[in-house]
Amino acid sequence: MILLDGKKIADEILEKIKKEIETLKKTTYGIPGLAVIIVGSNPASQAYVSKKHKIALRLGINSRVSELDEKTSQEILVNRIKSFNQDNHVHAVLIQLPLPDGFKTWEILNHLDPEKDVDRFLPINLGNLLLNRTEIYPCTPAGVLALLDAYQIELRGLNAVMVGRSFIVGKPLASMLTNRNATVTLCHSQTKDLAGLLRQADLIVAAIGKAGFITPDMVKKDAILIDVGQNFLTQAGEVIRLCTPSQQKRFEKKGVAITGDIHIDAFKKSSYYTPVPGGIGPMTVAMLMHNTLQLFKRKTRQETS
Ligand code: NDP
Repeated sequence: MILLDGKKIADEILEKIKKEIETLKKTTYGIPGLAVIIVGSNPASQAYVSKKHKIALRLGINSRVSELDEKTSQEILVNRIKSFNQDNHVHAVLIQLPLPDGFKTWEILNHLDPEKDVDRFLPINLGNLLLNRTEIYPCTPAGVLALLDAYQIELRGLNAVMVGRSFIVGKPLASMLTNRNATVTLCHSQTKDLAGLLRQADLIVAAIGKAGFITPDMVKKDAILIDVGQNFLTQAGEVIRLCTPSQQKRFEKKGVAITGDIHIDAFKKSSYYTPVPGGIGPMTVAMLMHNTLQLFKRKTRQETS
């Protein structure tokens, strides 16, 4: 079993982006700009946004965070999006999801300029992805493929089982794996005999949000296991049953531990596996920075051609 070290690969990607931005600074075209809009005070969302902002600044990206109270009206939020659409220093806009209850997510997202949609969630961008007519992909699915590519894992012909069908992870990733010539089964909560399907899989990608849900008996020997799930555990019994020793230590200090959707004992049967944390999480952030740079370059090309 080989650990797919998302943290290491993400750091290498970030280093390359930093160098490219240093070079860009010497030109007259400016630097990439990223704007993140966060509504409300969900602690997990706040932590994700703060991390993205710090990393973007470290790379030399012109990063700004726009915070809105959860009592903000939908109109104010839409106006904030429109102002970033018009701002020439902003090339990439991210609206942190989920929005608090009461906000109509799609009504809001549809106001974003598709050219600045750094998450690539808008219908036109997801449509182009389905048609295999894009070079910029949603961050988490892109992170999964970039990690597999970094370890030169050939996807052609693999029997891939994707568990989870969200528009953020499962649906785009299933299309991307199909475009890369894997044979994909997309599973969800209504799937019959999920365990039977998983046992036939050469590649399993889990994006469910249930700690340790995929157990060793559901995994074929030498399968590739990609764990997108990020579950925060606060009960000692669960932490002992589902977390690695290093996360158990974290729990003792901080009262919270992180684990994925694939039970840690299943990794022993795998050929390759991603850890949680340190797998797809850092790759997602690296792809956000990558997309920001790509959107900047695309805009600059349009302006200079
Ligand atoms: P969603 O809640 O939007 O989707 C979860 C999916 O899992 C749904 O399709 C659901 O099926 C399916 N599911 C739920 N229960 C079962 C079950 N018993 N059997 C089979 N399928 C089931 O979650 P997201 O896609 O947004 O996120 C999934 C996980 O990935 C979360 O832990 C999240 O924190 C993590 N995540 C991590 C990221 C990273 O950077 N590492 C980025 C994004 C997400 P149905 O559609 O039928 O309800």
